[in-house]
Amino acid sequence: MTLPVFTQRLRRHPGQIKNILVNDTFLAGIGNAYADEILFAAGIYPYRRRGTLTSSEIASLYEAIHRVLNEARAVVAVRMGEDIHHKVRDFLQVHGKGGEPCPRCGSPVSQINANQRLTNFCRRCQI
Ligand SMILES: [Zn+2]
Repeated sequence: MTLPVFTQRLRRHPGQIKNILVNDTFLAGIGNAYADEILFAAGIYPYRRRGTLTSSEIASLYEAIHRVLNEARAVVAVRMGEDIHHKVRDFLQVHGKGGEPCPRCGSPVSQINANQRLTNFCRRCQI
């Protein structure tokens, strides 16, 4: 998917950016954990409303989706044999790391648990 197509598609979805990312009708296959990682990589606060994103933020988001999913695929492919029943997740930067130092700035990673869904992000790095 090209950036213009991605942007167009994003415009059809109202609401908070993280909700859009985990929505299968937007893009299939981005789970809760990867949505947190993508938003961290893009420097975007998970509760930002889609309508407030600038075109450069949308471009960062587009890039981050590719980068995070490609990295994840590579790690999981290499380590799949380690333990088939255990999800390989310790390489994640912020998801599941509430209270631990942000890998970018060192301030504690925030954690919000709402609607049975964990959201982790850095209040300093993600705006
Ligand atoms: Zn940070």
